[in-house]
Amino acid sequence: MLTDLQIAIVGGDARTLEVIRKLTEEDAILTLVGYDQLDHGFTGASKRNIDEVNFSIMDSIILPTSGTGLSGEVETIFSNKKIILKPEYLKQTPPHCHVYSGISNSYLDNCIKNSNRRFTKLFERDDVAIYNSIPTVEGTIMMVIQHTDITIHGSNTIVLGLGRVGMSVARTFALLGAKVKVGARKSEHFARITEMGLTPFHIDDLKHEVANTDVCINTIPAPIVTAEVITKMPSHTLVVDLASKPGGTDFRYAEKRGIKALLAPGLPGIVAPKTAGKIIANVLSQLIKEDVLSRKGKIT
Ligand code: NAP
Repeated sequence: MLTDLQIAIVGGDARTLEVIRKLTEEDAILTLVGYDQLDHGFTGASKRNIDEVNFSIMDSIILPTSGTGLSGEVETIFSNKKIILKPEYLKQTPPHCHVYSGISNSYLDNCIKNSNRRFTKLFERDDVAIYNSIPTVEGTIMMVIQHTDITIHGSNTIVLGLGRVGMSVARTFALLGAKVKVGARKSEHFARITEMGLTPFHIDDLKHEVANTDVCINTIPAPIVTAEVITKMPSHTLVVDLASKPGGTDFRYAEKRGIKALLAPGLPGIVAPKTAGKIIANVLSQLIKEDVLSRKGKIT
């Protein structure tokens, strides 16, 4: 239980509601910033503007999955009021205060560094990334169905990258009957792709592999689907780029060549916000027990 822990939840989206629900169940005292338009009242939670928050008592601060913008702005879908996470707010927190976010950027990294607080980027954790790959794959299937006139079954599908998302995408598309080739660069990845019953190729050979591709799904956050590659694709190829912004595709060239190429960020929050929220909530609840309660010396 998180009894008596003071937690500020600053900004958020539908996923954050699951976090609020879970932490409320665990008996934490929540301060919600950016929730003035949310009708639902949670027991033990109070709504505040950010300049009304007493940061000096906060054991933990939870930011949205997107973290902050480059000027400290924090996104919320439950308020029209602008929220800026100022560096001084973090400096006011007690030394054991732990900050959680999905991802970070230079602004947030600087705030953390200057305040000397501990910080966890949830999306860098293997457990969160692997659980999150489940709704990501379902969203990818949805996009492919919406944007092609063929079945996934029997399609020539290329998956780029065998990381946490790539592995789930490749396996699921193969289970749906696609003929899946996977582009990677490590010999252990070639071995794993073969073990999965799929066809491996070296990512450097991509331009020689796309000649009969129906669907190309990129998970590599680097410029991989270049003009040189796109020019070798059949005109009906659909490119779905899952890699974080700006993706790994030359979208300008794809458009010029008439190839449909879609950047598809944030699929878990779009197709399954409740599940995606539960994934974050469960990991956060465990982490707060490990990171904060132990440091405060009051595990309940
Ligand atoms: P990951 O586990 O780190 O996997 C990334 C893969 O890209 C690895 O196989 C890595 O191979 C490969 N890679 C990286 N740089 C490369 C390069 N220059 N050349 C060739 N291969 C390279 O990451 P992940 O968790 O699968 O996530 C993949 C991407 O999807 C990230 O950008 C993530 O933010 C994004 N994502 C998007 C959604 C969505 O809804 N669209 C959801 C979740 C995640 P090596 O092991 O050889 O380095």
